[in-house]
Amino acid sequence: MRTIGMIGGMSWESTLVYYRIINEAVRERLGGLHSAKSILYSVDFAEIEALQHVGRWDAAQAILVEAARSLVRAGADLVIICTNTMHKLADGVAAGIVVPLLHIADPTADAVLAAGMDTVALLGTRFTMEEEFYRKRLEDRYRLRVLIPDAVQRQTVHNTIYTELCLGRIREGSRQAYLRIIEDLVERGAQGIILGCTEIGLLVRAESCPVPVFDTARIHAEAAVSAALTD
Ligand code: GLU
Repeated sequence: MRTIGMIGGMSWESTLVYYRIINEAVRERLGGLHSAKSILYSVDFAEIEALQHVGRWDAAQAILVEAARSLVRAGADLVIICTNTMHKLADGVAAGIVVPLLHIADPTADAVLAAGMDTVALLGTRFTMEEEFYRKRLEDRYRLRVLIPDAVQRQTVHNTIYTELCLGRIREGSRQAYLRIIEDLVERGAQGIILGCTEIGLLVRAESCPVPVFDTARIHAEAAVSAALTD
C-alpha cells in the first residue's frame, strides 16, 4: 500500500470526511484491521481564505507547495488537495513535487461518464463555478457540458460555503435553497449534479435530489485509495 499525502484544512470539516472515507475504503478492500497509510498537512484556513478573496493566489500557492513538499519529505507517495477551489493551483503544486498529484476533477469526470451522462451542473465556490480551471478541464478533457447556477444563485451557493459549511453550520434553510437551485439546473438539462465543493455533501443528501449527485470529496478520497492500492 502506498502512502496518501493529504493537504487538508480547507476546511477541516471536509478533511474529516476524507479521513473517514479513505480508511473505510481501505478496510472494505483489504478487510480486517487494515486502514489507510496517510499523512495529513492541515493548513490554517483563515489564512487561505483571506488570500483567495484578495486574489493573492501566488501566496496561497507558496503555502500549498510547501505543504505538498512536507508531505513528500514525510513519505507520501501521492498527494491530494482536499478541496476543489484550490485546484486552481494544481499545476503549480504538481510541478513542485516529485510524486503524482491526483486532480479532483479527473475521477469526478470519470464517474459522470461512467454514469452515461454528458450534461452536468457544477456547484461550488464562485472561483470553481465561474473560472476556467475546473470547468474547462471537464469540458475539454472529458467533453462534458457543464451548467452553472445564475449569478444570484451562485452568490447563495458561495456564501453558504464560507459562512456556514466551512464553519460546521448545517442549516435547513440553506439545504432547501440548494435544492431549489438544483431543481432549476435539472430543468435546464442537468442529468447530474457535481457537488464541486468538498463540504456540500454535508448539506445536500443524495436521496433528496431529483438526479444523481457526484460528491467530489467521496470520489476523490476513493480514487486516492485506488491509486494507493495499485502497484
Ligand atoms: N472545500 C471547498 C472546495 O472544495 C471550499 C473551501 C476552499 O476555498 O478551499 O472548494
